[in-house]
Amino acid sequence: MDISSNDETASNDILIRKHAERETNAFRKMATKLTKNESPLENLAAESGVAIVVLDKSGTERTAANNNSICRDLYPSQEFGPSCAEYCGRAMSRSIEAGGVIEYRCHAGLDCKAIALKKGNRELVTIFGRAFSSSENYRQATARAVDGDWKQFQANSFFENVIISTSPARVDELQRRIGDLDKTLLDDIAANREREEAAKEIRTPEAQNDTPPNADPFESSLLNYKFETGEGEKRATDPFESSMVNVKLEPAAISASTDISDREAWRSFIPSLLKVSYKLACRRILEFLSGHYGIESSLWLQLDRAEFEMAATFGAFENKPVRIALSADDKRMRAAVRDDSPIVLREAQSEASRKKRTIHLFPVVIGGEVRNALGIERESIDPDLSSRIIKFCRYVASRLEILRLREAVAVRDRRSRIVKEFSEQIRNIDRKDFWQTLTDVSAQLLGSERASLLLRDPEDRLTAKAYIGAPEDISLDPELGSRVARHIFENGEPALVPDIAKISLSPAPASRRYVSPSFLSYPIKLGGESLAVMNFTDKSTGDVFDKSDLDVLDSISPQIAVAVDRMTLQEKIGEFAQLSITDPLTGLLNRRYIEERLAEEINRVGRSSDPLSFLMLDVDEFKSYNDRFGHPAGDEALRIVGAILKETVRGADVAARYGGEEFSVLLPETSSTEAKVIAERIRARVEQTVFPDRKVTVSIGIATLSETIRTAEELISAADKALYSAKGKGRNNVQIFDSAIDAGDQVH
Ligand code: GH3
Ligand code: MG
Ligand code: MG
Repeated sequence: MDISSNDETASNDILIRKHAERETNAFRKMATKLTKNESPLENLAAESGVAIVVLDKSGTERTAANNNSICRDLYPSQEFGPSCAEYCGRAMSRSIEAGGVIEYRCHAGLDCKAIALKKGNRELVTIFGRAFSSSENYRQATARAVDGDWKQFQANSFFENVIISTSPARVDELQRRIGDLDKTLLDDIAANREREEAAKEIRTPEAQNDTPPNADPFESSLLNYKFETGEGEKRATDPFESSMVNVKLEPAAISASTDISDREAWRSFIPSLLKVSYKLACRRILEFLSGHYGIESSLWLQLDRAEFEMAATFGAFENKPVRIALSADDKRMRAAVRDDSPIVLREAQSEASRKKRTIHLFPVVIGGEVRNALGIERESIDPDLSSRIIKFCRYVASRLEILRLREAVAVRDRRSRIVKEFSEQIRNIDRKDFWQTLTDVSAQLLGSERASLLLRDPEDRLTAKAYIGAPEDISLDPELGSRVARHIFENGEPALVPDIAKISLSPAPASRRYVSPSFLSYPIKLGGESLAVMNFTDKSTGDVFDKSDLDVLDSISPQIAVAVDRMTLQEKIGEFAQLSITDPLTGLLNRRYIEERLAEEINRVGRSSDPLSFLMLDVDEFKSYNDRFGHPAGDEALRIVGAILKETVRGADVAARYGGEEFSVLLPETSSTEAKVIAERIRARVEQTVFPDRKVTVSIGIATLSETIRTAEELISAADKALYSAKGKGRNNVQIFDSAIDAGDQVH
């Protein structure tokens, strides 16, 4: 038969489209059975930890076990489907061409192997692997899913079942067993057994025993078929439709040594594992080992850079930390991986009363790298248990890695959301609380209980604009900004310090009472120039700051820089505006301001019956004060009068220097009678105050909004008239504007 006649282009085209429509009823039935009772294919996939997918000539998936969730999403997508067609879609024709197993790394970075099968005019291809074989590859995949061209896929389902391959040896082993599977598969096609009956056989060991032993497992699958003669074809009257239903494995193909009850237990254990956090999952593994194998004391290590750190402990190791001084590239570790045997470690020291403990350390390989290790405290472990533990570790390793990966993706997802929310928040910060809110929001983001924001002032000093959680006012600390922050500000590089005692910079005074010695100091830069420094310390979790905190700041700092710069500028403008409304001699508001304010206030009151009064105050005989004691002495006297005014008026009142030796006070919601009390108080205070050179008195005129006094001008003018009236009454006097007097002959 001619296997090269396979229509490659057709298979490419159809790969993406014709999925559901080609499913027969029989296939659907089978699929239901497969979900209800795991098939040998599922068993094989689960044990090997990689995907096994069978496609027909059209590229339609006939069955899949443990399929990679990435493939599940990419394959039917408009955008990436055509790329899938280039790889898995061509696997059949390429395998036929090659006359055996082919290997490829697809566009998604997944390593696959494929073997084609041909029986008569029926063709299938088994693709296995679909796994990331290096950590770098799946790191790239997470990056694409989080920020790159795979962003459109929902991260949770996209990473639901990412396959990270176990060791290459495992895949080779699988390759051999896939060969067995293919052989059986095709035998069954040929036999064309009754579908329902066959499905039962999948689950009964007796039926499996019926299967003839497979002498030449791998070579057989493609080649045997290639040269098989008509006999097989004759038997295969309706070969294809039934093929998947009749899949059957020999016992050897499932596993020669692993106890079936073991696998059952592992399988029922896995779902509970995938629902919890990574850390908890590590603990669950140890609990499982205790429950299932009676392992009383164990620990689960994970690799952090080159060193192992404790991820979970069980039994005697709980609350009793042990340090495993072993790096991942230790040659004993490599030997253990190669020989499928644990490393035996003996405790170096122990209390005299206790004998030295022995730990058996099982390396756990994921993606060709040792990523975890299981430590078991036991004098000795028999080879059977050892082999079961090794298999179990393999079984859970890739699941655990999926968990870790999912958490990493969730963290990144959370981070991009945080950055978005952060920019919203700082856009909406109220100008008044800008510095405080900016510091609060940033500290919250890092889970930091103490934080400060130091801004460069015009003299190039760093001054605290805001702080949270400090036990004292840190802005009172004269050395503030001269220590670590100054260094960070000048250096322009952030400092992530796990323990300040271990660096050369002088630490903060002990009076600060920091809970943790770990801190993070970050320069806020715009166009390469440092504007400010943000300091964070005391994580609410008690943890030290780490790289992920730095990542958060890296993503939000450009926005902080722009906001800080804008606010600094606004504050400068604010200062100028402040200057233009303040009287420099007394620090009171000036005439311009009070006139504007008066107009606003009158406007606000409108037609309501709220009273509003206005005082006009003039220093008595001030010309002679100047003449006798000089202008500077006069100034000093005016400053004192200003200070008395500030002290005497109430919160809502507005005191101003109206000009020269005249002052005015705006009294909102104040009747003329109430205003008289206040005016009298001012007059008396000035009279009682001891001035440097001589006694000083003031005269005050009072006016209140009324039917006849409606505008600012009218109010000021009326107060002025009352003032002149007070002068006329012998000075050091208070007068309320009287319209009757005004109508007649106002005293001048
Ligand atoms: P009267 O009680 O009638 O108002 O007498 P008076 O001397 O205060 O009369 P007048 O308003 O004519 O004099 C105001 C004087 O106040 C003139 C000026 O020398 C003095 N004066 C005005 N502004 C200032 C100032 O900013 N500093 C000083 N030292 N003196 C000022
Ligand atoms: Mg005057
Ligand atoms: Mg005067």
